Amino acid sequence: MHDIRECEATVRKMWAYLDGVCDPAEHERVAAHLRVCIACAGHFAFAAELLRAVAKAPVFSHVEPELRTRVLGALAAQGFHAPANVRPSEAP
Ligand SMILES: [Zn+2]
Repeated sequence: MHDIRECEATVRKMWAYLDGVCDPAEHERVAAHLRVCIACAGHFAFAAELLRAVAKAPVFSHVEPELRTRVLGALAAQGFHAPANVRPSEAP
């Protein structure tokens, strides 16, 4: 059994770790935990597979502009911002 606080700290860094944006010390701390904690390793394996599936998913070729604007507006209101290559006014 592992220290639950170490598991929580590891899972909090999951997306940054999988995106490769952790600093080297954080990366090594997460990697070291994953080598010894089967529960966290399972979470990370699932998330990594999810990312691979999303990356392979077909891109919608047609999205209604009004829907795009509403979704991006709702995300922005929650503090999320679209990547630079996705603009609310972008026509499909
Ligand atoms: Zn763990």
